[in-house]
Amino acid sequence: MPEMYDALVVGAGPGGATTAAFLARAGRRVLLVDKETFPRDKVCGDALSGKTADVLRRLGLVDAVRSGAAISSWGIVFSGPYGAQVSIPFGTYDPAKDEPGFVMARLPFDDLVFNAAKDAGAEVWEDAQVTGLLRDDTGRVTGATVKRNGETADVHAKIVVGADGAYSVVAKDLGFEQLDERHYCGGLRAYYEGVTGFEDHGFIELHFVSEAIPGYFWIFPMANGGANVGIGMLSQDIKKKDIKLKPLLDFCIDHPRFKDRFTNATRVGKVQGWGLPLGSKGRPLSGDGWLLVGDAGSLIDPFSGEGIGNAMISGEMAANWIGKALDADDFSPSFFKGYDADVLAYLGTEFRLSRMMQQLGRWKWLLNFVIDRASKSKTVAAAISAMFADENERAKFANPLFYLKLAFAK
Ligand SMILES: Cc1cc2nc3c(=O)[nH]c(=O)nc-3n(C[C@H](O)[C@H](O)[C@H](O)COP(=O)(O)OP(=O)(O)OC[C@H]3O[C@@H](n4cnc5c(N)ncnc54)[C@H](O)[C@@H]3O)c2cc1C
Repeated sequence: MPEMYDALVVGAGPGGATTAAFLARAGRRVLLVDKETFPRDKVCGDALSGKTADVLRRLGLVDAVRSGAAISSWGIVFSGPYGAQVSIPFGTYDPAKDEPGFVMARLPFDDLVFNAAKDAGAEVWEDAQVTGLLRDDTGRVTGATVKRNGETADVHAKIVVGADGAYSVVAKDLGFEQLDERHYCGGLRAYYEGVTGFEDHGFIELHFVSEAIPGYFWIFPMANGGANVGIGMLSQDIKKKDIKLKPLLDFCIDHPRFKDRFTNATRVGKVQGWGLPLGSKGRPLSGDGWLLVGDAGSLIDPFSGEGIGNAMISGEMAANWIGKALDADDFSPSFFKGYDADVLAYLGTEFRLSRMMQQLGRWKWLLNFVIDRASKSKTVAAAISAMFADENERAKFANPLFYLKLAFAK
């Protein structure tokens, strides 16, 4: 009999490492494989949302993040296409309270979550690349082929978790199209030192620069005076308008609104790009012997580009459902529908609203109007702040009355 794992988790990014950590903590026999050797980098904006912080708390990793190379983030700055700017706090700043989010470079962050999986007892193979799935006569996924130390081996497991990111081999083998231009973004990221002009308390910044719309430009403050600077845009628009993101990023950095802040800044390393499969795609996340988590399941927020928290939340839910399946000895697709339902219940509304906000972001005058009103009215800024915390509040963006009220808000 070949060796049989309870679960084979493909990819040890935040999604896969979270899945493996929770499974191993529950005493399950889990193998976590990654084609890279940790610590490894991942192109990202490095912003860790409140959702990410919640899972980190459940993993017991918040103190490690805090004392690591992270800064706490208490809010967000938006600027509109014609220069209006507003700062929206995520609640009231209080150093005695848990911070709403962090910014931390992915190299140390991913290593932290990866080590949590290892410490919990997951077996880990690095420099081990999954090349395809194994199936039995009925078509059920029963494991994967893994290339390691120059040799290819079959690994068998009761369930295979695809957590192998935006270019997922598992999702491809299952027949899913990762790059659907309507539900996929291209993004570029560069690290800088010496960028000035940040607000206090680690506010991240999203800027809608007129010439760069429908994309957005970000400047996120980092520990030790660093900054993560980048640009993202829907692939459909990149293709339709034949946009080159690198010159557009340079254009934004050189823009009169930001130029002074970069006067004494130097870029550290290369400008790097990566894909963002968005949650608006809506695709199955489970089937016969398999589950998908994080980017492999196309779970990135379509407006903010946030995907770390969604990867970790889906990983936690996947571990929960695998545990239930092992207890019930039921690995049928109908059993795992519960996993899809849980992810959808948690993220479905966010995806719908964020898709809508992504579409609204194309309307320069509307963006400008909302940001301009918020910059002039404390009531409006407070209402938008509440929208970050509460999905029901966010739904107001869909209501034309909201914009009418904005016009008259004090
Ligand atoms: C430019 C950009 C900016 C972003 N900014 C933010 C942000 O600020 N905040 C945020 O929350 N999200 C952001 N995101 C999204 C975020 O980076 C992803 O959603 C997140 O990394 C998803 O985690 P994951 O574990 O699903 O996949 P990944 O982090 O991509 O991990 C996948 C892992 O699988 C491994 N792997 C791949 N193929 C194989 C294989 N065949 N065999 C074995 N291993 C394999 C890889 O080596 C990797 O370690 C951004 C994305 C981009 C591109």
